[in-house]
Amino acid sequence: MPDEYRAALEKAYTLALDFHRARAKRNPEATASFDALWAALNGPTPTDGMAPAEVIKQLAEGVDAGLMGAAGPRYFAKVTGGSHPVGVAADWLTSIWGQNSGSYLGSPANAVVEQIAAIWLLDLLSLPPDCSIGFTTGATMASFVCLAAARGEVLRKAGWNADAEGLFGAPPISVCIGNDAHAAIFAALRYLGLGHDRVVRIPTDDAGRMQVAALSTTLASCGGPLIVIGQAGQINTGAFDPFREMADVVHRYGGWLHIDGAFGLWARSCPTFAHLTEGIEQADSWATDGHKWLQLPYDCGYAIVRDAHAHRRAMAYEASYLPAAGGECREPFHYVPELSRRARGFATWALIRALGRSGIAAMIEQHCLLARRMAERLASEAGVEILNPVELNQFIVQFGTGLPPAQRDQLTRAVIKCVQAAGVCYVGEAGWRERVVMRFSVISWATTGADIDRSAESIIAAWREVGAGTMNSG
Ligand SMILES: *Cc1c(COP(=O)(O)O)cnc(C)c1O
Repeated sequence: MPDEYRAALEKAYTLALDFHRARAKRNPEATASFDALWAALNGPTPTDGMAPAEVIKQLAEGVDAGLMGAAGPRYFAKVTGGSHPVGVAADWLTSIWGQNSGSYLGSPANAVVEQIAAIWLLDLLSLPPDCSIGFTTGATMASFVCLAAARGEVLRKAGWNADAEGLFGAPPISVCIGNDAHAAIFAALRYLGLGHDRVVRIPTDDAGRMQVAALSTTLASCGGPLIVIGQAGQINTGAFDPFREMADVVHRYGGWLHIDGAFGLWARSCPTFAHLTEGIEQADSWATDGHKWLQLPYDCGYAIVRDAHAHRRAMAYEASYLPAAGGECREPFHYVPELSRRARGFATWALIRALGRSGIAAMIEQHCLLARRMAERLASEAGVEILNPVELNQFIVQFGTGLPPAQRDQLTRAVIKCVQAAGVCYVGEAGWRERVVMRFSVISWATTGADIDRSAESIIAAWREVGAGTMNSG
């Protein structure tokens, strides 16, 4: 390797270690404005090259103030994992190895590692061992893959070959989905020609769980090919649908039950919380993320399908330049839309190997414990309302209890701004039942009890400042 390339790799390595060491001290929010980032990185299209190590240095310096602290310990806004160092290390190697991971012959190493990781994943998630898994960019694409399999299969059972004929003239599919489903599902439905507004929305309870009685009534009048979409881990409340009852009803009508378990499916790998997912194994497909609770660096999701044939029919294709390896060899591109893509098996294998079943369970347990600790700290402050029972790692908060709705919304927004400005932790805004809320998610390997306490103090201080004078009892 020319010395200058080695220098670039060493520069990246040193910068990465520096970033990692400083992660807990950084402001968890990006501090640079659009203009500042633009000025730091833009310029005329480069005419000539630049020394590789200098390029890496300029890149890192240019973006630094625009980086969010999702890899740090006090980032609670979105449901994001923390880019675990072991996953990152495996990912560095994945990049330098440069494997084209579509086919077995394109990278036997990746194909085998994905096949092993798939077995481990099914085992950790207590799902049927003969399910097939596609390694996707994330849960959105995982749901896309699962729902493509569902679409093909429910139509095939109705005598229609959607893969050959498309949807034109096909028997209409009824798609039922809980009223509090994640936006990603609606995107996947749109890509699949199923439409995001054409779905039947099933009422949910206070925590966002699908109401099975309402589902039953709807299915009784639907008829025809049927797909029902449930959820493990509502994005605001962490709630789980009643899977067993849902599976019973859906299967009685010959339908396909898909579960969006982007983060919540992982509750299944933790003995303390596995009961929340009871009955989920009776679904027909599941989407989950590697880059959320498993802590993999971006990007990684898993599309898990019970009927491996339906999965393959939806995704596989043949090409003369892609000879099949045959035998026991799994062809990765038979399970996802992409042909050329990143080898996602390596980081998955490494992180599961590093944490082990017990490490993953302990991490999930810890996150749920810390979420409860934060919720309790906040709830003990006058004027702060926690809107859901904290069953998992997610909860939502509103400030200004007892005040008129518009004022509560406005105060909650102001508290979020104030917390962000303080720079101790990062929280964001969400909407729930027409209310503006602060959503809190504990889901990074890096978060400790001390981080929770510091963050709680910062949020309470923000509320006292913003709410001063608005609360009689405050
Ligand atoms: C994050 C999330 C998604 C989308 O997953 P991506 O990995 O961002 O594509 C879907 N559903 C739920 C419940 C999520 O939390």
